[in-house]
Amino acid sequence: MSIASNVEIIQNKMKEAALSAGRKPQEVTLVAVTKTVGVKEAQEVYAAGVHNLGENRVQVFLDKYAEMGDVPRWHLIGHLQTNKVKYIVGKVELIHSVDTLHLAEEISKKALSLGVCQKILMQFNISGEESKSGATADEAKRLLEAVSSLKGVSVQGLMTMAPIGVGTDENRRIFAALRALSEKIDGEKFAGVSMQHLSMGMSGDFEDAIKEGATLVRVGTALFK
Ligand SMILES: *Cc1c(COP(=O)(O)O)cnc(C)c1O
Repeated sequence: MSIASNVEIIQNKMKEAALSAGRKPQEVTLVAVTKTVGVKEAQEVYAAGVHNLGENRVQVFLDKYAEMGDVPRWHLIGHLQTNKVKYIVGKVELIHSVDTLHLAEEISKKALSLGVCQKILMQFNISGEESKSGATADEAKRLLEAVSSLKGVSVQGLMTMAPIGVGTDENRRIFAALRALSEKIDGEKFAGVSMQHLSMGMSGDFEDAIKEGATLVRVGTALFK
């Protein structure tokens, strides 16, 4: 299958999932995860109309950024070490994987030094899987309150990952829990914190995620197979 036809298939499934949940298809944005492919495929998916690209590792992002620049909207979706923050702030549209106050502070510091405000999402580990990064729901209120005081970051929503292969019911339970958490945080009206985005859903579960309110789905394998 060509990348362009995979894009069409995924976008149709996204649309159907949104409509089946009474949502507007344009509320959901496809982020093509290009971490396993090269610049050529990334350019192909962009040409097929997917203008948001996601990378999970800083070096792999930088390699593509060197060739493609700011033309795609870049998303950093993987675990981020504080010592790598300096390489990406101001270059990526959105960092999905902020899970500690310390990391948010480092991002804010770098952003302020560049005179920019970096958009971020806070990542939560809803499933409780030990291998997954993410803050726990119990610490959400304190964490968001602290992050809201940082001038160099703007919190735009939440991100999570469901475990692989747990099935629709469990996926939806996890995604619904992230949505409920975002509604709770929204109710706190923290300054500089908006809950406009829910980044959830990958190749195996993006339809479940859209039915539970995802606004950003991160799809790799299904686009580049
Ligand atoms: C790799 C990755 C994805 C995409 O996963 P696929 O199953 O290939 O669609 C989404 N989110 C994160 C954080 C990833 O690392």
